[in-house]
Formats: sequence, structure tokens, C-alpha cells
Amino acid sequence: MIFEHNRGFAQRLDEDDSLKDFRQLFHFPTQKNGSDFLYFCGNSLGLQPRTAKQALDSELEDWANLGVEGHFHGKKPWFHYHKFLTEHSAELVGGRHHEVVIMNQLTVNLHLLMVSFYKPTKTRFKIIMEAGAFPSDMYAIESQVKFHGYDYDEAVIEIEPREGEHTLRTEDILRTIEENGEQTALVFFAGVQYYTGQFFEIEKITAAAHSVGAIAGWDLAHTAGNLPLKLHDWKVDFAAWCSYKYLNSGPGNVSGVFVHEKHGLDENTHRFAGWWGHKESERFQMKRGYIPEPGAAGWQMSNAPVFGMAVHLSSLEIFHKAGMENIRAKSKMLTAYLQETLKYVQNNNPALDFNVITPENPEHRGAQLSILVKENGKALFDYITENGVIADWREPNVIRLAPAPLYNSFTDIYELGETMKGFTI
Ligand SMILES: *Cc1c(COP(=O)(O)O)cnc(C)c1O
Repeated sequence: MIFEHNRGFAQRLDEDDSLKDFRQLFHFPTQKNGSDFLYFCGNSLGLQPRTAKQALDSELEDWANLGVEGHFHGKKPWFHYHKFLTEHSAELVGGRHHEVVIMNQLTVNLHLLMVSFYKPTKTRFKIIMEAGAFPSDMYAIESQVKFHGYDYDEAVIEIEPREGEHTLRTEDILRTIEENGEQTALVFFAGVQYYTGQFFEIEKITAAAHSVGAIAGWDLAHTAGNLPLKLHDWKVDFAAWCSYKYLNSGPGNVSGVFVHEKHGLDENTHRFAGWWGHKESERFQMKRGYIPEPGAAGWQMSNAPVFGMAVHLSSLEIFHKAGMENIRAKSKMLTAYLQETLKYVQNNNPALDFNVITPENPEHRGAQLSILVKENGKALFDYITENGVIADWREPNVIRLAPAPLYNSFTDIYELGETMKGFTI
């Protein structure tokens, strides 16, 4: 499609958008002058669904009215609350029902999964990951290898982009895995890289890990709710994601976990245990001897944090209704329009000196575009912020913009362009 930079064109795309009514389901932050902010930060903290409050209130009411009886007699009994989230979560990531569970928070889950899936031996102890990974992942990996008695540099192989490039080539990732095959215990990547917005080829990288006898684990914080996934078919060993970025479930809210059934149904897979993962029919018998629930549910430890999960469920219902394939189809259009808009404004304003480091190929990215600003980056960021745009600044010189298909419009992008046109040094 040939995109035009004018309001009428953007409005026509909005009229034809099959997901246009979903925007009404979200709260937009408002500026001092009363108008809504242009919000491009759904990759960092998604907007609040209007149904979230009601979902939370319903659990507060059950607690008020029932006390402890809410565990069995609530509208949604807390005893197996996590199950209310299973179906939509499985659909979202392409897992079987027994392969997903919602529990804890993301980094905690990464550690719990590494207890099961990073089991270094004398000869096979290395972890291969992308250079410049999200800090929490770097720290998690660093502490894991140290816990097993290794130095970071000895045990972790970080893959860097080639000289003069910003993103990784799949061929380089596959070659690194092959070259270090015998020593590699775990290949651990983000699905979508938080800084560059690159969407890695999960299926190919997972297959390469398996071909050398390693485990493939994925951090899907920037991927779940952004791109359709087929974790079961792709034979991913394990994955985890948070619920507050594209999944719009509120600050610090619960995380999702995928464990492939080949591990999850194997009672001998090591894990750290707690009462909530114990075989459900005997959970309250308080007996010695841990028997895990089959599948990912057997990784649960603590009883479900119902208030956060109620909010997450209200958001998952929106994703289910919209359908991940429809969301992705709109997302491709929105991000392409954003890309064209950025080119247009650069051509029309010499003060704008940046390039987009996110891959141009839509198959290798999700919603986000990262723009590397050569000079005056912070000034540009501050300027758009003062003019009603919420975006995200990452040191040292990147502005991330992520149009979220459930609530962003083509007109939002047109208006962003108009704002950027006004920037002066
Ligand atoms: C957002 C994000 C996190 C955040 O972890 P929490 O435990 O939820 O605070 C971790 N890793 C990646 C890759 C992220 O994008």
C-alpha cells in the first residue's frame, strides 16, 4: 500500500479498521489541557482496559462477602483461579492448555525455569544469548552461572551485531550455536529484542539449539500480545512473559509461563516446588511428598494472586475477542505507516537526524520501531513529550515508538508526524 501523509488518508484507514471499536475499551492518559495524550508506550506499560476495575471489584466483593469461603464459593473460586486464565493464555502463545500457567512475575519465573532447564555439566555449561539483553535477563543469567560456580565470561556467549549493523542475522546466531554446540547447555533469547525491536526467528533458533543437544528458552516480554506465537509447534522448551506490556494488565502484574509437554508431563523434570503446584485433588491434604500437577501448573508455588490475575483476565478476554491474527494484521499496517511517516517528516524537517534501527522486513519485527537519534535525541524526545506524546527514551540515544493495534489509530500516527515536523534545534 502507498501511504499518504494527510489527515483524510489516516482517517480513511481508521474507518476501514476492523478493530477500531477496541480503542473505546481503554483509558487514555489525559494532558493538563484535557485532551488525550498520543500514547506509543504500549511496549512498556499497556493502557488500562475499562473492564479492569470491574474485574478487580468483583474479587474484592467476594472477599468482603465471603472471607475465606471465597476459595470455594466465590464467583470464580480462588482455589483454582489460575485455570480461568489458561485457555486464553494458551491461545495467545500457541501452547496446549497443560503447557501454560500464570504465576509470579517474569524474572522470578525465569529463575524458576532455569532451575529446571539450566543444568550445566562439566562439559556442557554455556549459555548463548543476544548481546545487550534486557538488564533483568542479564542479571538473572549472571547470577545463575555464578550460582553454578562459573564466571560470566567463561559461561556466557553474547552474540553481537556485525560491524556497522544494529540487529542480528539469523545465520550468525545459528553458526554460533553450531560452533559451540557441544558446550552449550542453554540458548536463551528474547522473542522481540526490547531495544532494537527485532523479532528473532524462534522456530529456527530453537531447532538449532536442539540439533546440538541444548535447551531453547525464550523471554517473551515484548512478544506476547505483540505477535502470534506457536510455541508448541515450534518445540520451544520453555518461555515466560510479563502481562503489563502489550498485554495491558497493569504495573508489575503477573507473568505467564510455557513449559513444553515433553518436559511438563515428565515427573522427573526437576523443579522447585510449593503447595500450589501439588496434585490438585490432594492439595489441601497437607501430606509429605510432592506430586506435581501435570504440565506447567506443576511449577506453581504460591497460591494465586487473585487481584492481579483478575485484571489480567479482563485483558486476556479482549485479546481473545479481537484475535491475535487480526491484531497482527493491523499491527503490520500501523507500523508500516509509522515507518513511512518517519521518513516523510525527516524529509520535511532537517532538524530530524535519525535512522530506524528496527528491521525493515515486517516479518522480523512487531509493533515497535526504535529510532536512533544522532544528535539532539533527548531534545527531540523532550519536545514530543511536551507536545502531548508519550513515547520512551532509552539511553544512550534511542526513542522507542510502539503503536499498539488494540488502541492506537492511524490518525495517532499522523498526529505524531505533525508534532515531529515542528521540532527545531
Ligand atoms: C520488561 C522485561 C522484564 C521485566 O521483568 P519483571 O520481572 O517483570 O520486572 C524482563 N525481561 C525482559 C526482556 C523485559 O522486556
